[in-house]
Amino acid sequence: MSTEPLLAVEDLQKTFGGLVAVDGASFQVEKGSVVGLIGPNGAGKSTTFNLITGFYDADDGSVRFRGEEVVDEPPEERAQRGMVRTFQITRELTGMKVGQNMRLGGQSHDGEKVVHALAGSASDREAEIGERAEELLKELELWELRDEYAGNLSGGQRKLLELGRVLMAEPDLLLLDEPMAGVNPSLTDDIIEKIHDLSDRGITFLIVEHDVDMIMNISDKVIGMHQGRVLTSGPPSVVQDDDELLEAYFGG
Ligand code: ADP
Ligand code: MG
Repeated sequence: MSTEPLLAVEDLQKTFGGLVAVDGASFQVEKGSVVGLIGPNGAGKSTTFNLITGFYDADDGSVRFRGEEVVDEPPEERAQRGMVRTFQITRELTGMKVGQNMRLGGQSHDGEKVVHALAGSASDREAEIGERAEELLKELELWELRDEYAGNLSGGQRKLLELGRVLMAEPDLLLLDEPMAGVNPSLTDDIIEKIHDLSDRGITFLIVEHDVDMIMNISDKVIGMHQGRVLTSGPPSVVQDDDELLEAYFGG
């Protein structure tokens, strides 16, 4: 073990009232990997996701990104470090065109890194954001739809646009919460293919997803949670046969 993982979560703890949502969860995400986080409803997946990204404050535990402790940092600072999450296209954004959505992705707090990274005048910066948006839209096969309102996109196209918006910020670690939710099954392969492409280009993924088949298909490593704890962790072929996890999903 010579190389530090990109993300290391240790003994993470979060209680809501009397309810322990995350109960000492620990795991690692290696650079360049695709890691899936699964578990039955209420296992603590979304809470863990929110603790990693800083949207919830942890009661206890550690979140290290590139070896640096970030557990007390606000979400914007974590995003500037390159740890970026997708957001659903909100009501406000559905009233904007696809192209505008992308440009905003390069300017919002998640996109601050982009703006910082670019040199030159405001107009140079604008031009560079425009070029990056064009490149990404073409890659995501949304370029033809650039003048369409985001609200008119299909579920799958919206997911691709969500992905596009965060890619404007050039993330190193991309956190996806349920990328398959609301996506027509005929389009899930498109999303999986995009994740593979981005992974090949060096982006690391942590994906929380209900669709266990999808996670098993796409991940290098799968982490199985139950009742706020990590039950099992390893390659998909091992985790899918884990008795404790199967019991957590299907047990009475
Ligand atoms: P999952 O995403 O795996 O379905 P969650 O992390 O959403 O699980 O929830 C874990 C537990 O914490 C559940 O019992 C849920 O009801 C509870 N919980 C999650 N968020 C909150 C919250 N904001 N306030 C109170 N309880 C919460
Ligand atoms: Mg959830």
